[in-house]
Amino acid sequence: MTSSEFDFDTRQIHAGTRPDAEFGARLPPVYQTAGFVFDSFDDGEGRFNGTVAGPAYSRTDNPTNAAVARRLADLEGGAGGLLTSSGTAAIAATLNSLAVAGDHVLATDSLYEGTRTLFSNSFGRQGVEIELLPADAPLEVWQRAIRPTTKALFTETIPNPKNDVVDLERLAGIARAGGFPLIVDNTVATPYLNRPIEHGADLVIHSTSKWLSGHGAVIGGVVIDAGTFDWDSQASRFPNIASPSTRGVASFTERFGRLAFLTYLRSVTALDYGPTLPATSAFMLLQGIETLSLRMDRHVSNSLALAQWLEHRDEVTSVSYPGLVTDPSYARAQKYLPQGSGAVVTFELAGGREASRAFIDSLQLISKMTHLGDVRTLAIHTGSTIHGHLTEAERLERGITQGTIRLSIGLESVRDLRADLERALGAAAAVAGSGSGALAGAGSAAGSGAPSDAASTDAASLDAASTETDDAEAA
Ligand SMILES: *Cc1c(COP(=O)(O)O)cnc(C)c1O
Repeated sequence: MTSSEFDFDTRQIHAGTRPDAEFGARLPPVYQTAGFVFDSFDDGEGRFNGTVAGPAYSRTDNPTNAAVARRLADLEGGAGGLLTSSGTAAIAATLNSLAVAGDHVLATDSLYEGTRTLFSNSFGRQGVEIELLPADAPLEVWQRAIRPTTKALFTETIPNPKNDVVDLERLAGIARAGGFPLIVDNTVATPYLNRPIEHGADLVIHSTSKWLSGHGAVIGGVVIDAGTFDWDSQASRFPNIASPSTRGVASFTERFGRLAFLTYLRSVTALDYGPTLPATSAFMLLQGIETLSLRMDRHVSNSLALAQWLEHRDEVTSVSYPGLVTDPSYARAQKYLPQGSGAVVTFELAGGREASRAFIDSLQLISKMTHLGDVRTLAIHTGSTIHGHLTEAERLERGITQGTIRLSIGLESVRDLRADLERALGAAAAVAGSGSGALAGAGSAAGSGAPSDAASTDAASLDAASTETDDAEAA
């Protein structure tokens, strides 16, 4: 079935699969196997050199994974896709296919913290410089940053956790003029709320661990190739894709056309590094994808209702959710996210770290954990966890304070979620109202830029508190 004939709701259930040839199984069989038997000498040779259709080894060829990748590529409007062992692996494999030591990559500066760490730690160590710029920096700033060695522009549709929606079409224009692909991490939007390829993206990435799987059970990732980037016009920038090999083998573009990048990603990068998703995980991911639109509608309506409610609470100084009329990203969300602004609601609690501690420790229904896109609602104090390794100055640069709480809104009843939040906000207010001396002390330690001893004591007691809570929950 092809993408254009059917609506999204139909394609999320049918695209990319057909009843299995052997028994007519309606769902794609879980090919939980390392390898595939060859019929003969010639069959083995053919499967290896690509002249015979058929998988050889599950590191890159698993048929269950291939079926799920076809479904996701269809939903994003791409030419094809490759599943990976995590969203992080999808990003790493994509950039490893484009950039080598000495190269340069541009990225917007509001990003998932794990991606920032990957860029500065591992890519930095490999000698790939990833330069972060504010998405809305003036055009001249972007243009001046482009070098002959620039190999990609990387961004997130709805950046995690700040929700400062990017102008995809502007970024696509910058990448196109520069001669390199725009890579969009579309995890938070999902293909139901935004399809970056329709706005000029060349490659789309997801952490499928989040809303695509949707039930918090499996880690995974995917890379989808739009099939539209003109690698041949940039052959000197991307010789690994658009030039013949040193042994005289024709280029990937000559052999695979619009699937050139995807084929390179699968047959070179994934083959060499092995970021393979288990077939059982691919199957569970597929179960999630089949209800994506239904779940997202509910994630979105719950998120909007709770964001609007939080906005009017005295304990809360600001709420970031692009679906709110008061949000700086509202106008952009109307253009890029007409069906809803996702399900991450980030807010600022009055009273800083101690109020945040009381808030988190008072939650009963909402899970205290890192992760996104679960059917369950999750809450995290990012300053002591995801952003805990940063200095106060670095946190503030990212817009993270000691009062920042990130919620991933699930599918429970809004009434029950509101009751849990109300109890926790009450506990936060009690701390914020009573301990003004302690709060002033914490504030000045943070402000001095040298919180070392005080902060580590606080961190130790926070760990102890959360361990106690976990034990209580387990019991
Ligand atoms: C979680 C996340 C990732 C990383 O995905 P994993 O599957 O956890 O490796 C990448 N990008 C965004 C926006 C995320 O939220």
